[in-house]
Amino acid sequence: MFLPKRFLELSAKLSTLPGIGPKAADRLVFYLLDQPQEEIQSLAEALIAAKREITFCKRCGNFAEGEFCEVCQDSTRDSHILCIVEEIRDLSAVEKTGAYRGLYYVLHGRIDPIARIGPGELQLDQLANRVSRDQVQEVIIATNPNFNGDITAMYIARLLAGSGVRVTRLATGIPKGSDLEFADVFTLTQALEKRTDVQA
Ligand SMILES: [Zn+2]
Repeated sequence: MFLPKRFLELSAKLSTLPGIGPKAADRLVFYLLDQPQEEIQSLAEALIAAKREITFCKRCGNFAEGEFCEVCQDSTRDSHILCIVEEIRDLSAVEKTGAYRGLYYVLHGRIDPIARIGPGELQLDQLANRVSRDQVQEVIIATNPNFNGDITAMYIARLLAGSGVRVTRLATGIPKGSDLEFADVFTLTQALEKRTDVQA
């Protein structure tokens, strides 16, 4: 091999990143080695600092620097509406619509019978606590429109049945089987506005 061992090591590391195959990884290493030493230093520092300093919000599970995230710290948000998403990237998709002014609850997963992930793994009991403690009036379930997202939504609707809170789910404008994060802003805004009540 005509390339140095360090080159190959770095390329192998980069090729483990999502969307980066071996060829793209090689191209990145060529690009990076072309940059000044200070650029590489600050890139490495940004990476290490992000991992060290970004934690999860104690209230909603979003990324945070400190105890609470930007959304939870924003006093103009409506704390009586709670949007439940599977992952932070879904929260990010809903935020990009600009059409939602409530707060969030990130599950960091979904009920998945094949992978043996049940309600216990998702700490759904904490969700019920939060709904009653924060006097939430509406819970919008924004799990993905696929099998696992559907059973997760059903479980949450049953969990909250009888609590007096209105439980809704995003309208079905998002293509069945696809992920929220890939829905365009218009579709997602429509799905939010036309959300429907869920019967447990
Ligand atoms: Zn938060």
